[in-house]
Amino acid sequence: MVVAWHRPTRVIIHTKAITENVKKELARLPKGKELFAVVKANGYGHGAVQTAEAALAGGATGFCVSNLDEGIELREAGFTQPILVLNMIPIDALTLAVVHDLSITVGNKEWLEQAVEYLQERKLKHALALHLKVDTGMGRIGFLTPEEVVEAVSFIQESAVLEWEGIFTHFSTADQADETYWQQQHQRFIETIDALPALPKYVHVSNSATALWHDEKIGNMIRFGVAMYGLNPSGHALPEPYPLEPALELVSELIQVKRLAKGEGIGYGETYITDQPEWIGTIPIGYADGWLRNMQGFSVLVDGNLCEIVGRVCMDQIMIRLPQEVPLGTKVTLIGKNQEKEISMQAVADQLGTIHYEVACVLGTRIPREYEE
Ligand SMILES: *Cc1c(COP(=O)(O)O)cnc(C)c1O
Repeated sequence: MVVAWHRPTRVIIHTKAITENVKKELARLPKGKELFAVVKANGYGHGAVQTAEAALAGGATGFCVSNLDEGIELREAGFTQPILVLNMIPIDALTLAVVHDLSITVGNKEWLEQAVEYLQERKLKHALALHLKVDTGMGRIGFLTPEEVVEAVSFIQESAVLEWEGIFTHFSTADQADETYWQQQHQRFIETIDALPALPKYVHVSNSATALWHDEKIGNMIRFGVAMYGLNPSGHALPEPYPLEPALELVSELIQVKRLAKGEGIGYGETYITDQPEWIGTIPIGYADGWLRNMQGFSVLVDGNLCEIVGRVCMDQIMIRLPQEVPLGTKVTLIGKNQEKEISMQAVADQLGTIHYEVACVLGTRIPREYEE
């Protein structure tokens, strides 16, 4: 994978926004409740290592990632805080988890049994730390009944190669106004907790949406993801309890500006034809960068003006209609503020019929990430 440094297209990450979002959330949490920064998927496209640093500066005390390699990336960057992998990993990778001191999630008995068998044969320096995942209604991974959880706990406690470090669940509707299903999941988790003889070091149920909008009193840590990047987890559905600061900007420059006569076709398929003489600008970004074809018809900002993307989005370029001639090299903002105007990640998601989480994640690794305060 090559990063296109020699092209003016950039993702700019304002690390201070991440730090501030973490600080604001921590200020609302009861004393002693910890915040683990969720930096999976390369920090939702923002850069895992830099996001992790910014989150630590705001008071985060641990991290969540989605797979082993993401955890190793953080360890190799020098982070010594607790790191939780939010999923099971292949059994034959467990040595790496122990060596790098990564905590692993377990959601079924079969995996646990295989893990013990594998680890017992290896005589590693310390035990594998586990967080039990309880499926309270997400239907993804996790133990279903309190009995299964109780059994898993005693299995872990009887084994010298395993350590019970945490228990958690994940809500599927925390970003919706109707709290009915959230309450059901919450209740199920409490029933599981009540069935246990003791609790581990970490009990955690909150993603961003639960942390922002629900009252959970069972956890001593939250898994703070999308809101840390300054994005409202609910999209438009619920108001932010405090202003979240978006961290990501997507910018480029005009590499060609031309005046086309009336009746000229633009882009593949000639889907746009000038209906008068028009100034057309070209920007080096395309669907190979995650600026998807359905962005046709959306606008970008040049000198504070919204300029429509005309013609099809190409793999590496897009064309826009300018109000007048502008110099080559003029800055273009695709996401973020430009003079008085702003294009939010949410607006891009609305155009694509999706959620901003997806927009952030699909911004291509071809685009360099630059970091500013
Ligand atoms: C991704 C994830 C989170 C973070 O979710 P946000 O909505 O981004 O806050 C928390 N918990 C689990 C299990 C996840 O997979």
